[in-house]
Amino acid sequence: TLSDRLADTFKNLRGKGRLSEADIDATAREIRIALLEADVALPVVKEFVGAVKERARSEEVSGALNPAQQIIKIVHEELVTILGGETRRLRYAKSGPTVIMLAGLQGAGKTTLAAKLALWLKEQDKTPMLVAADLQRPNAVQQLQVNGERAGVPVFAPSPGNGTGDPVEVARASIEEARRKLHDVVIIDTAGRLGVDQTLMQQAADIRDAVQPDEVLFVVDAMIGQDAVTTAQAFLDGVGFDGVVLTKLDGDARGGAALSIRSITGKPVMFASSGEKMTDFDTFHPDRMASRILDMGDMLTLIEQAEKAFDSEQSMKAAEKLATKGGFTLEDFLQQMMQIRKLGSMTKIMGMLPGMGQFRDQLENFDEREIDRIQAIIQSMTPAERENPKIIDGSRRARIAKGSGRQVSDVNQLVDRFFEARKMMESMARGGGVPGMPGMPG
Ligand code: GDP
Ligand code: MG
Repeated sequence: TLSDRLADTFKNLRGKGRLSEADIDATAREIRIALLEADVALPVVKEFVGAVKERARSEEVSGALNPAQQIIKIVHEELVTILGGETRRLRYAKSGPTVIMLAGLQGAGKTTLAAKLALWLKEQDKTPMLVAADLQRPNAVQQLQVNGERAGVPVFAPSPGNGTGDPVEVARASIEEARRKLHDVVIIDTAGRLGVDQTLMQQAADIRDAVQPDEVLFVVDAMIGQDAVTTAQAFLDGVGFDGVVLTKLDGDARGGAALSIRSITGKPVMFASSGEKMTDFDTFHPDRMASRILDMGDMLTLIEQAEKAFDSEQSMKAAEKLATKGGFTLEDFLQQMMQIRKLGSMTKIMGMLPGMGQFRDQLENFDEREIDRIQAIIQSMTPAERENPKIIDGSRRARIAKGSGRQVSDVNQLVDRFFEARKMMESMARGGGVPGMPGMPG
C-alpha cells in the first residue's frame, strides 16, 4: 500500500527540519502511482502531485508525525480541499417548483438515483414529483414507476394528454402539473445511450431548454474509471451541468473519477449513490472520498491519534509551565480560549459533566464573538508583551487598542481578566481547587 511504500522511502529521515528534495521526489512518485491506481486522470494527477510537492517543500517537519505520515496528511488535506472546495447544497427555485434534470449515459444509475433523491427530499418535507422523460427504452417509464412507488413519490408519465412519445413535451407538461398539484420539486429522468451520442445530447439539450432547470445533475458510474472524464466533458459541452452524482460506490472502484471530474469540469460532486436500496444515498463527503482514493483509512486514523497524543503531551508540558510563578502568559491565555471554542457548544458539553451545573449560567451567557475580540487584541500585541504582560503600560494599551480596532477600555478589561486568570492558575497549581472557569466573563 501507499503507506508501506512511503514508510520505506522515509526510513532514514527523522527529526526536525524540512523534507529534502530527494525525499519529496520519491514521495511524489509513490503518490502518483497510488492516484493512477485509483483511476484519477493523468493530467489531474500531474497537477495534484505538483501542488503537494509545493506544499511539502514549504512545511516544517511536524513534531507529532513522522515524515511519511506528514506527507500523507498533506495529500489527504489537499484531496479534501479539491473534492469539497465548493461543495454546495441544492439550489431551490425562489418561486414555483424547483426543477432538477438528470443527465448521463445509459446504465449510469439515473432512474434509480431519481427515486433516491426524491425520497431524500421527501424526508426533508419537500413534495417532489418524478418525471419519466426517458421514452427511449421500452421499460424505462415502468422502471421509474416501480422506483417511485418504492420511494412513495408520484410519477408523471406520458399519456395522451401529456405529450405522448415526445420527451420534451412530457417534461414541459410535467412542470404545469407540478404547479397545479403544488409539488415543490420536479425531478426529470432522461434517456441515456451506451456511448456519447449526438442525438442523445440534442434531446437532453432540448429538454433543458424547455424546462429551464434550476439544477442539471450529471450522473456517472464510479466504476467507469478513466472514461469518466471524457464522458463528463462531452456532457458539459453538449448539455451543461451544475453538479455531479457518483453512483455505484458500493462497488470496488476507488473513486478517482470524483477527483478527475471535479478538477477537469470544475463542477462539484454533490451526491453519492451506493447500492440498490432506496436509502443507499447521501450527500457527498469529500473526507470519506479522499480516504477512499488514498485507500488508507487506517493510516489516517493513526495520524489522527498521533496528533492527539502529541497535543496531550503539549498540554502536559503547558501544565508544568503554568505551575511556575508568572509562567502563564497571554499566549497561553489565548490558547485556552481557542481550546474552549474548539469544544464547540460549551453549554451542551459542560451541562453533561457532573459538578458543572454551577457554571451553567456563566456558560449560557458565554459569547463566542468574545473570543474573536480577545484574539484580535492579543494578536495586536508584540511577542514580548504577550510573554510578559506586566510591561503593557498606558501607551502600549493605546497602540494595541488601535491595532485591534477596539477601545482602550477593552484592552484594560482583557489585561485585568488575564491577571485574574493567572492568579487562579497559580492557586490551582498549588492545589487550591477550581474557583471558577479561567477567562470566563463573570
Ligand atoms: P439509468 O440507465 O441511468 O437510468 O440507470 P439505472 O437507474 O437503470 O441503473 C442501471 C443499473 O444499475 C440498475 O440495475 C440499477 O439497479 C443499478 N444501480 C444503480 N445505482 C446503483 C448503485 O448505486 N449501486 C449498485 N450496485 N447498483 C446501482
Ligand atoms: Mg433510466
